[in-house]
Amino acid sequence: MNHEEFRKNAHAVVDWVADYLEQIEKYPVKSQVAPKDIYNQIPASPPASGEPFEALMSDLDTIIMPGITHWQHPHFHAYFPGNSSYPSVIAEILTAGIGAQCMVWETSPAAAELEERMMEWFKGMMGLPSDWYGVIQDTASTATLTALLTAREWKTDFQSNKKGTSVSKLRIYCSTETHSSADKAVKIAGLGSENLVKISVDDQLAMIPSELEKAIQNDLAHGYVPCMVISAMGTTGTLAFDPTRQIGEICHKHQVWLHVDAAYAGSALVLPELEWLRDGLQLADSFVFNPHKWLFTNFDCSAYYVKDKEALIKTFEILPEYLKTKTRGQVNDYRDWGIQLGRRFRALKLWFVMRTYGVDLLRSTIRTHIDYGSWLASQIEQTPHFELLTPQKLNMVVFRYNPPGKSVEKLNTLNETILTQINQSGKAYITHTKVNGLYGIRVVLGQTRLEKKHVEDLWGWLVKTSDALPK
Ligand SMILES: *Cc1c(COP(=O)(O)O)cnc(C)c1O
Repeated sequence: MNHEEFRKNAHAVVDWVADYLEQIEKYPVKSQVAPKDIYNQIPASPPASGEPFEALMSDLDTIIMPGITHWQHPHFHAYFPGNSSYPSVIAEILTAGIGAQCMVWETSPAAAELEERMMEWFKGMMGLPSDWYGVIQDTASTATLTALLTAREWKTDFQSNKKGTSVSKLRIYCSTETHSSADKAVKIAGLGSENLVKISVDDQLAMIPSELEKAIQNDLAHGYVPCMVISAMGTTGTLAFDPTRQIGEICHKHQVWLHVDAAYAGSALVLPELEWLRDGLQLADSFVFNPHKWLFTNFDCSAYYVKDKEALIKTFEILPEYLKTKTRGQVNDYRDWGIQLGRRFRALKLWFVMRTYGVDLLRSTIRTHIDYGSWLASQIEQTPHFELLTPQKLNMVVFRYNPPGKSVEKLNTLNETILTQINQSGKAYITHTKVNGLYGIRVVLGQTRLEKKHVEDLWGWLVKTSDALPK
């Protein structure tokens, strides 16, 4: 492909993307293909000679698109959103075009310095503690692993990097509702999954601080070394909020690292009125949230903050001859701020998103999504045979259809049937969770293109699907 062909083809691709996003509601939200449907249509080996661009685009439409689940569809209410937006897509095109690998400051000073600024913008806009240092990671899973490795070194006086993890009997704590990335991080860090202590939760599914205190005391009495607590600001199942301040005070007392996982709900910190969300945050040693979920920035882009920057760098620093630069010490060489050496230029899309939206529109959009959550929750509360399984949190609603005279098992099956029928209709994509053994339909109202009419339609389909079930 030469310059002229690129120009022509890329213009066509931009039109394709615009058409796709403009007409996205004509697609079934959840892909309806069966396993291997796509695989079997792809030849076993690459072509010997190059094919025309038109052949690729045609196969994209006929082979690939049926196997896509449409995350940018306004009726994507599953998991958490993986939002994009036009400014973010444009920045991704530019990032690919520029093609810089941003491992150290010298390999693209603008990338490092824009990243530093974007992390400061978030701090200001979201009211995060001013003594935190930010760095972009690929995902929250990586950020939590980064936090754990840093806490491990900090707690062992940097001896486990040197001598191995047997230098100390470290213990990590999180609630039974914490995201599976905690389990994964403990495995990768070599701490042993038996040393991840799961603390029980209250009826709101939030960690019980007194249980944490008890577990730490018990471990201390048995010669263990409490190292880190992972506190959830919005769990994945039901958006439960662990009490950051109380947990932070316990951590402070026992010299334990506090990592706050705000992967999804952290984006709501853009709202100044949500003061309760910020309560106790200054006690955290590290914090992560994903602009790639609710803040209109293409996957992947995770914002990680740490209080003790030196501990972070000391954990990951490497200095082979070929990476020595004259600017070292005066600038941020982000390869020492996490796991990857090579890094994408992710700050550019944040810059495009924040400048195109502006703080006011970012705020009002998030606020509107939360209002939709309240609206749906009130419909559920007012409608006979429906009930909330947990109080509505921000823009997540967990509920079930609950006609009288049915056993728990029967209700679980009924709700699973409703969910499957909605998803198979292609109109919307919703997922489920379990609340104390009860099957709950879990709806997240946070897609970039979501409007009130979508929320009303979704509610209408839920009621209609339930009414049509055999009595
Ligand atoms: C989504 C999520 C994660 C994982 O995020 P990735 O960026 O996909 O690694 C971790 N914690 C919570 C609470 C989440 O909701």
